[in-house]
Amino acid sequence: MNDLKEVVEIARALHARNVEHARLSWVQYVTGYDFGVSQAYEKLTEVLKDKNNFETILAGREKELSSLDRRRIDIVYLAFKPYHFSPELNELDLEIERKSVQLAQILNTHRFVLDGRTVRSTELTQILRSEPDRAIRKKAFLARAQVNQPLVDGGFIDLVKLRKEYARLYGSASFVELKLEFDELKPSVFVGWHETARTLLPSYEKRRMAIGEKYLKDAPAMPWDYLYVEAQMAPELNSPVDMAKYDDVLQGFFFKLGFDISKDNITYDVFPRRNKSEWGYHFGIDTGADSRILANVENRFHEYGVLLHETGHAIHTCSLDPQETILNMGTSGIVHEGFANLMGQFLYEKEFFGQFFGSDTARTQVAFDELKPWLQIKKIREVASIFFDQGLYRTNITSLDDVNGLFLEKHRSLLKEEPYTDNPPWAFRIHHTTHPIYLHSYFMGDVFAEMLKHHYCKLNRGASVKDDFKGFGQFLLEAVLKPSGTYPFEELFQRISGEPFSLKYLAG
Ligand SMILES: [Zn+2]
Repeated sequence: MNDLKEVVEIARALHARNVEHARLSWVQYVTGYDFGVSQAYEKLTEVLKDKNNFETILAGREKELSSLDRRRIDIVYLAFKPYHFSPELNELDLEIERKSVQLAQILNTHRFVLDGRTVRSTELTQILRSEPDRAIRKKAFLARAQVNQPLVDGGFIDLVKLRKEYARLYGSASFVELKLEFDELKPSVFVGWHETARTLLPSYEKRRMAIGEKYLKDAPAMPWDYLYVEAQMAPELNSPVDMAKYDDVLQGFFFKLGFDISKDNITYDVFPRRNKSEWGYHFGIDTGADSRILANVENRFHEYGVLLHETGHAIHTCSLDPQETILNMGTSGIVHEGFANLMGQFLYEKEFFGQFFGSDTARTQVAFDELKPWLQIKKIREVASIFFDQGLYRTNITSLDDVNGLFLEKHRSLLKEEPYTDNPPWAFRIHHTTHPIYLHSYFMGDVFAEMLKHHYCKLNRGASVKDDFKGFGQFLLEAVLKPSGTYPFEELFQRISGEPFSLKYLAG
């Protein structure tokens, strides 16, 4: 690393400003107060825009380097490169950032209304999980579309246009290709997804019919029925639990995998509050030193799924070497989400739920085992969300009607879903606003997670994850978490599995 001493210093300076920006973002998300998120962003881009910094990086690229240093310089170069095209591009970047912070504020502080009453997002979920009246569920499901218009009025279409303009000036085919370049993904990674969706569609349809007939006496089950049916399949999901004990529960569970989170500096903010964001997040504020988790729980067992997922992110971040500032920047979002989803899936395994359902453990496992294949096939819906998100940047969008039309078109072409409303809920998913072209990370992360389980069993001659819990944790730490920044995603996938990335692991 000595060859890159100055470059490492630059990366550390950038990291320090990132930490500041992340702290302020955290405050904004948990309190609704903006103490200067955009200004902090501007300060961090100063490091990125600095000409001397970039020259040092360019000089570093010319050196004879070890393969690890080559990886380091590639990561830094990719981060700095877009800031040295033109002042116009930099101005646009700031404008995009300001707009997206402003729109995130609209989303975070928006509250839905149901029959004249203000309801929290978690309440809508609760209705979707437990309300036997299908018409009320449908109303609750569609209520999430209420934020579409305010988001568009606030400037969402302008934000999309700014991003398109940014990609044009940068010279990318579209904003999608631009984002993928910075994710170190080839656009070809999406080739064949339409066909895979088509292959998986019949078994999705079959299950929708089956669960509709069995649990609703009316088939097929519709999107506003899914959470309700899942709660019918496994009523344990809705069981009341005492969330005041969440830290003992999480610590105890992760210890079984060999992760001692009591040693990590993880702050949890888990209960709902006014003006607090209604979702679940992990803020990796300072690698290995400061992780924070935002969630909104109301004492139901299924909410542990979010806490397991977000704690997964924290474990990942805490297991990185804080000294490796540059390699840490190179960790793919897919690996992050894949590991977090893998941790979230333990919600359905007795090693986790056993501590809640004591004598009913065997029955609960049967219920969860019935649930799992449905949850797996249901993921096909994400393909429509991913292509909708990409479509925003590949289609001419000028109004809310255009966005709605695009959403319905993607659901029709990929899922054969006929429109059930002309104003479908989409804006409430904050990703379209703050993390465009990111949804594939969850989906591909799931595929990655399936591959990891599969591969671990193969390594252990058929012994499953449950046979050696600590062994699995150790495998994840060594094979996935520690080297996660060292290789771009597709290379890491191939190194572990011996094969290129493919959706085949999704078929089960
Ligand atoms: Zn996540």
